Amino acid sequence: MEPAGQPKPTHAATAGTAKHVGGVSLNAADVERDELEVDVLFVGAGSASLSAAIRLADLAKAAGRELSLLVLEKAEEIGHHTLSGAVMDPRAIRELFPDFLELGFPIEAPVQRDWVEVLLPKGKHVALKGPLVPPQFRNHGNYIVSLNRVVGWLKDQAEARGVDVYAGFAAASVLWEGDRVVGVQTRDAGIDKHGNQKPGFQAGMNVRAKVTVFAEGTRGHLAKGVISRLGLDAGRNPQIYETGIKEIWQVRDEVAKELEGAVIHTAGLPLGLSGYGGGWIYGLGQGRISIGHVVGLDHRDPSMDPHALFVQWKQHPALADRLAGGQIVRYGAKTIPGGGYFSMPQLVGHGFVLVGDSAGFVNMSRLKGIHLAMKSGMLAADGILAALTADDTSAEGLMAYPRGFEASWAKEELWSVRNFRQGFAAGMVKGSIDAGLQMITGGRGLVARRSVSADHEHTATLAAYGKGPSKPKFDDKLFFDKLTDVYHSGAVHEEDQPSHLVITDPSICVTRCTEEYGNPCQHFCPAAVYEWPSDAEQKGVRINASNCVHCKTCDIADPYQIIEWTVPEGGGGPRYVDM
Ligand code: SF4
Repeated sequence: MEPAGQPKPTHAATAGTAKHVGGVSLNAADVERDELEVDVLFVGAGSASLSAAIRLADLAKAAGRELSLLVLEKAEEIGHHTLSGAVMDPRAIRELFPDFLELGFPIEAPVQRDWVEVLLPKGKHVALKGPLVPPQFRNHGNYIVSLNRVVGWLKDQAEARGVDVYAGFAAASVLWEGDRVVGVQTRDAGIDKHGNQKPGFQAGMNVRAKVTVFAEGTRGHLAKGVISRLGLDAGRNPQIYETGIKEIWQVRDEVAKELEGAVIHTAGLPLGLSGYGGGWIYGLGQGRISIGHVVGLDHRDPSMDPHALFVQWKQHPALADRLAGGQIVRYGAKTIPGGGYFSMPQLVGHGFVLVGDSAGFVNMSRLKGIHLAMKSGMLAADGILAALTADDTSAEGLMAYPRGFEASWAKEELWSVRNFRQGFAAGMVKGSIDAGLQMITGGRGLVARRSVSADHEHTATLAAYGKGPSKPKFDDKLFFDKLTDVYHSGAVHEEDQPSHLVITDPSICVTRCTEEYGNPCQHFCPAAVYEWPSDAEQKGVRINASNCVHCKTCDIADPYQIIEWTVPEGGGGPRYVDM
């Protein structure tokens, strides 16, 4: 298969495997691989990537240049791996398409009203409305959207401009020439779980590009390796994350009426003061609501379970009463890079740029990232065109992108909350006080720059933390166990393939991790991928890789950093629709 864009890419057969870093290649060694050449390669088809491709196509056309632009996406269909709350600030889409509403941009509902509910013990809650709503939770002028419908629309816009978008192609490793990124190698298809080639084996291809745009979303596995190899995070804070669990529900008519166009954020239970997080309820229209709960992965509890917290949150009457009589439509989970400006890596290197969640473009204070992701893509497109025009795609040649970012409203917004998330690492009370001070000191707060340590370093040992909270009870009507929820994610993988979840030192799991932390993977994974069967003949973890919803929590939260999330065969993963 080859892109239809102009000029046509060339093909050549090559032998051998790609050199790569920061990941584990599951591709076969020494096989013939097709080689594809394009001008710009986009790895991942999210809002950042597609905005970049659209803007670059428009800029190239205006400049009278023909560029071959190719987007690779690991999901079977564009949008199937995309998940967000989501309330979108329209600032970036309005810049990209001033007439986006007239063009049919998919919105679920304009935000009509917003408030905050503080969930209290004994089933009580307090609603904060009007002037009591904190400024970051005021959403008038924003739109409630389904992000996978949004990226589907963006994909159509990109294709209409001659951009080639390939779904079901997972980028497995980076192609390097010295310290220059020259493309990616896609994942082989047809390797069995023992590593043998099956009938119908298809070698992944080498896709070479003058510029590669890493837009893999949160904790991109190639971006992680590139950042690590080149030290792009030197002098920055480590990226820190939250895990968000989301469900879409069809609710009773009176609830749908109450919530249509409403944006509610919740604080209080079930986390209380034990860790950073909160929930949302968004009214989608057509009788549906989006609900979700987010928890910081810097939580100390080694048995911290984002799915259990989500269920406990739903069991509060503020949620349960609204869900009663309704029906679950879809389930999903995703991590969110929440560290903000000081956790963003250097955005460019020789032959590549980083955009969107892969580069940390999220305003955690507002719980928003779509507009920043889109803006990062647009700014990257400006920088890429300048680099291609000057025939200099080195890091220096691509510097127009980071310079453009520093001069943009995106930087201004992220700078205004630069110390927000780090403040909460010292506890919810201190974090809230500092967040209040930041609001009146232009984002500074108590200190000019707050540092933070990586999430997994916050995990306490069993001995230090003690016993965590009990798991919630499930009723299979409103409150589901992980396996039932995974069913509602639509997750499917080819079963007979090597696990894409690689434990680089399994001996640690059954020795130190069991004793020191009680194997947190069995708790933090929201898809029951990691099981510790007590009746197994051999002590150890069982990995149900086909359940994986690609949230990346394990790659981030494992206390020994021995879990490596890699891509499965293209097309595998959740099938999010309307999420
Ligand atoms: Fe998320 Fe990892 Fe579980 Fe997959 S295995 S669902 S990436 S925590």
